[in-house]
Amino acid sequence: MTPTPFEALPLAAPIQRVLRELDYHTPSPIQAQAIPLLLQGRDLLGCAQTGTGKTAGFALPILQALHERPKQARPKTCRTLVLAPTRELAGQVGKSFNTYGQYVRFSQTLVYGGVGQVPQINAMRRGVDVLVATPGRLLDLIDQRHIDLSQVEFFVLDEVDRMLDMGFLRDVKRIVSMLPAKRQSLFFSATLAPNIVELARTILREPAHVSIMPETTTAEKIDQQVCFLARDSKRPLLEQLLRAQAGATHQKLTIVFSRTKHGANKLAKSLCASGFAADAIHGNKSQAQREKALDRFKKGLTPVLVATDVAARGVDVKDVGLVVNYDLPNEPEAYVHRIGRTARAGAEGRAVSFCSEEELEFLREIEKIIRMSIPRWDDHAWHIEALAAHHASWRPGGRSGSKPSHGGGGGNGGGGGQRRSFRGRR
Ligand code: AMP
Repeated sequence: MTPTPFEALPLAAPIQRVLRELDYHTPSPIQAQAIPLLLQGRDLLGCAQTGTGKTAGFALPILQALHERPKQARPKTCRTLVLAPTRELAGQVGKSFNTYGQYVRFSQTLVYGGVGQVPQINAMRRGVDVLVATPGRLLDLIDQRHIDLSQVEFFVLDEVDRMLDMGFLRDVKRIVSMLPAKRQSLFFSATLAPNIVELARTILREPAHVSIMPETTTAEKIDQQVCFLARDSKRPLLEQLLRAQAGATHQKLTIVFSRTKHGANKLAKSLCASGFAADAIHGNKSQAQREKALDRFKKGLTPVLVATDVAARGVDVKDVGLVVNYDLPNEPEAYVHRIGRTARAGAEGRAVSFCSEEELEFLREIEKIIRMSIPRWDDHAWHIEALAAHHASWRPGGRSGSKPSHGGGGGNGGGGGQRRSFRGRR
């Protein structure tokens, strides 16, 4: 079935115009499903990650409603509230509204922590059409009576899984309790674990469900590889990859993921000392520092960005050709988010994951949720065959490239605390 083009959707002229200018012809799968439902006023439960086009999926119908029913917001209120887990993501969503709504008359502001609150209070004084906020600062300003949620018509909860991981459940519940009962609510999460579905049930009214699985979207454009190696070989292999990237003709940017903030700092510093232009972004850096680092990265001035999971959320940079998982994430969903930092906006991308002996367990969990075996890359000097073989023995069917079975308790051999030491070829 050929997808309906944007032109055929009942979107107003100022929105059609921007879509033409952006060269968006065909809605992405999540947009094709969500936009018609949202235009009918339905609540929505969406299972989708970033990179699927979900931001336009919710921003376009909201902008359409604001265009069709223009109204001066009351002081300190907002007609639309978008809650996002991090300031980066809030910034990204705000930017998308500005882009998609450039020919629609509407006002918007951002509210997030880590910066002074006075400009945010001033921006809210007259009321806005769209408020994009992180939960903590929003509640601060509500408690100080600078923001009033009683007039919200559209409520969007974005990246709920991440929001809960960051401990925002209580804050989210408090915010929801302040919303008027009559509203349209949209709820997006990359995973639908039982606690997330439970939360959705308390927020949404007879929601339509849309689900976009990662394998059919961004992930399939990403060339994923795993390297089995010793922990202290990670650094030289990373250098080899970065040197190859520096010689690439396009998509030269690389994001390197580290599990800890300290690790990210240390790695960025030592890469700089070895002559690579690298910087780190993580939660301990100020908003200004993070924005500066991101800006220099986008411009290619520091083509290597070492990041932690939380800091990299919402980073949407087209020219990222390579993602390196220097450490594998201990929560498997983070893997999908990390590799989704490459292959943005239709581009191709490569994601290389380093797996040392102590990370085999994490690799298994990741392969279970992505429902595939990540092809191994062993054409480098630090490959440890014994480690690769050990992992392959867990994979039902043996070798790399075969599919592990699912739902069957996952894994055999090698689990259950059995530990061996792997000293492979060097
Ligand atoms: P998101 O998942 O909302 O972060 O969007 C991922 C990327 O896809 C962004 O760079 C968007 O600008 C781009 N994008 C979203 N929808 C479309 C579309 N229908 N056609 C082309 N690009 C799109």
